[in-house]
Amino acid sequence: MPRLLKTRFAPSPTGLLHLGNVRTALFNYLLARRENGVFLLRIEDTDAMRGHEKYTEALQADLRWLGLVWSEGPAVGGALGPYLQSERSAIYQRYFAELEANGLAYPCFCSEHELNIARKTALAAGRPPRYSGKCRQLAPEERLARFAAGTPATLRFHVEDGGRVEFEDGVRGSQVFETSEIGDFIIRRSDGTPAFFFCNAIDDALMEVTLVVRGEDHLTNTPRQILLLQALGLPLPAYAHIALVVGADGAPLSKRTGSRSVQELREAGFLARAVNNYLARLGHTYENNQLLGLDALAAEFSARRLHRAPARFDEQHLHHWQHEAVRHASTDELCDWVTPAARALMPERSRDAFLEAVRGNVLFPPDTERWAKVVFGDTLEIAHDAHQAIEDAGKEFFDIARRAIEKHGGDFKALSGMVQHLTGRSGKALFQPLRAALTGALDGPEMARLLPLMGEERARARLIRWSNGAGG
Ligand code: GLU
Repeated sequence: MPRLLKTRFAPSPTGLLHLGNVRTALFNYLLARRENGVFLLRIEDTDAMRGHEKYTEALQADLRWLGLVWSEGPAVGGALGPYLQSERSAIYQRYFAELEANGLAYPCFCSEHELNIARKTALAAGRPPRYSGKCRQLAPEERLARFAAGTPATLRFHVEDGGRVEFEDGVRGSQVFETSEIGDFIIRRSDGTPAFFFCNAIDDALMEVTLVVRGEDHLTNTPRQILLLQALGLPLPAYAHIALVVGADGAPLSKRTGSRSVQELREAGFLARAVNNYLARLGHTYENNQLLGLDALAAEFSARRLHRAPARFDEQHLHHWQHEAVRHASTDELCDWVTPAARALMPERSRDAFLEAVRGNVLFPPDTERWAKVVFGDTLEIAHDAHQAIEDAGKEFFDIARRAIEKHGGDFKALSGMVQHLTGRSGKALFQPLRAALTGALDGPEMARLLPLMGEERARARLIRWSNGAGG
């Protein structure tokens, strides 16, 4: 029977999640969901990190906001925990001991300075800068003497020369690495902390992860991780390395290059559905261009449709999905989303009609507040171009408009029909000055929807203001 698909997201909580790393989470989530598999969350907090509790909490809040719920991991538990690496030290020690006992790992006393010189010499001679294996040769008594003298030691994994590591990458196809290029590598630092890729590989195996989808910056870790797992007789997951997300300048998008965090996007009013729809298409092709829920995104997600070329972040595309998400949100959702000031302005009975009227013209909560002020506020700001359109139409136009509203009230079709009939104006020349006087702008939601919400009193006053009737 084929193994159940289990994917994972394994962030290091060193900062807030940004779009690049949350995309990795989304891809893993969608793959698992599509196959009814398991999506696991593991926190890689092995380093002596500062403030990682804060980021551990924040990243979980971000994932929940996006709906990327994990069925195994912190907060939800599971049979293969703990899911915080900081709580797994004893496990790593066991595997260090096993490797040492089997002669597959050895202490290395070379100083940073020595290693640097060796690296530079190798590079200058055109050789790969791999470790010479010097400390592998040390006699047991020599090792004991160095330990006794308190010389700091790392632990190195022994890689036999002349071998090959081959694997089939789910995105990049067949991969071949020569072991002679790898050399013996450090799995435990001199301060006793395990190297990132050591814990990462062991945990994937122990947590029964079957597919690792991660950024291609980890591609060169993979042969090392495969060698480690093979040496320990642990199962290997399948790997798929995805191209990184780059900014407009072609440089990788990351928290360091100042890309926006998920938290910032949420605070700016992006909807989770917009972010998911955008990211699922960033470096992955969908045939369907509709706004999709997570289920539908999962149903059509495929590792085969992931691109090999870097994915370029495009704010306009993100805005497109935001527009779609706002258009399709429920009115209750929109009501929670608008600013408190907008909510306070909307009368309960007009709320749904107002949100329906403006949803096609707003991207973010402050846009909604602006329209709420236009429709329900007492004062109206008039934009410069709108003012010009009002002036151009002249006072007689507004005399007629005022009579029209007195006759037809909130019925914009009848009102504009009457103004058209009596002024002989049509098209832009008819609609722009009306819209400008009523809303203060030349563009916006349909007037036929706004006018009844505005109420006759307010609308009438706005038209009178520009007519002869206002006295100037
Ligand atoms: N903690 C690693 C990172 O955040 C995980 C890499 C991986 O997915 O294997 O980059």
